[in-house]
Parts: sequence; structure tokens; C-alpha cells
Amino acid sequence: AALRELLLSRITDVPDHPQPGVVFKDITPLLADPVAFGALTDAFVDLCARHRVDKVVGLEARGFILAAPVAVRAAVGFVPVRKAGKLPGETLGQTYELEYGSAEIELHVDALAPGDRVLVIDDVLATGGTAEASLQLIRRAGAEVAGVAVLLELGFLAGRQRLEPGLKGAPLEAL
Ligand code: 5GP
Repeated sequence: AALRELLLSRITDVPDHPQPGVVFKDITPLLADPVAFGALTDAFVDLCARHRVDKVVGLEARGFILAAPVAVRAAVGFVPVRKAGKLPGETLGQTYELEYGSAEIELHVDALAPGDRVLVIDDVLATGGTAEASLQLIRRAGAEVAGVAVLLELGFLAGRQRLEPGLKGAPLEAL
């Protein structure tokens, strides 16, 4: 409960970003506070131990920032999932539906070993589309989904419900 309060106190609301009517959750105050960022990192590291994680996948772009220190402290590999066209090697791609249109994310084909237990880390779970697509990429690469962990879940967007079938019993942890 104390962790929850600390984290929430370092996330601010930015009205009308990136478009009118949207209230954006800004995590940059949390990143700038080493106590809060450290406590968040420790909580993700605990999840890695509890779920016997071999690799963490960070979702571009804020997922990179959160997952990288977790990988170092948990002594597991860091693997980026990026927007299409950014990764230099051979990739697997996955498209997913947005409110208007679609998007595509990619994973290096050889980034995960068969049987690797993978924890997906991102800052915010909104509609769940990005996380859902990342789970498909991880499974197509032959690896196992150990769970999805986010700093913040926006409950009113029902991402948890969208993600549920794709989790196949793996946990979704919102810190
Ligand atoms: P989803 O696919 O769940 O709809 O969107 C999740 C992605 O969009 C995440 O990668 C997340 O970083 C970003 N996102 C959506 N809404 C917000 C927000 O209010 N604040 C932040 N920081 N990221 C958001």
C-alpha cells in the first residue's frame, strides 16, 4: 500500500495530450525521483524472482526505461519490442487494432530462446492492444509468457479484459 501511494504520488495528469479529451498519465516525475524509481524497480525484480523469469521484454518506449534496470538487477536479459521498422535484424511482426486504424510491433527472431520464461514490462496498460500483440510475438518466437507487469493500469479502458485470453493464465500485475 505504501509503494502504491509513493508511485501514484509521482505520476501526474496532463490534460489534452496527445490530443484533446485525453488525460495523459505522465511518469517523468517518477523517473526523476530515485527513491520512487528504485522502489518500482525492486517491485519488478521481485516479480522476476517470483515467476522465475529468464528475460524481460520492454515495450517501446517507456517500457525500455523501466525494464532495463530490472534486467540488470534481476540478472536476466533485456529484449526490446519496437515499433515496426526500427530493429536492424530479422524480425517477427505483429499488427494490432487501435481505436482508429492499426499499428505494428516487432521482435528480433532470435532474441528469445525456446522455453524462455518472459516477463513483459511497460509503463501503462491502456486498451491492452500493445501488450496483447507482444504476447503473440513471444509465443511465436517459441518462448513462454511468465506474465505482464505494468506500473499503471487504466481500469476504465478495460485492457485487462482484452488481455485476459492472451495471458492463458499468466498473471497481469499492475503495481
Ligand atoms: P494500449 O495498447 O494498452 O492501448 O496502450 C499502451 C501503450 O500506450 C503503452 O506503451 C503506453 O506507454 C502508452 N500509453 C497509453 N496511454 C498512456 C498514458 O496515459 N500515459 C503513458 N505514460 N503512456 C500511455
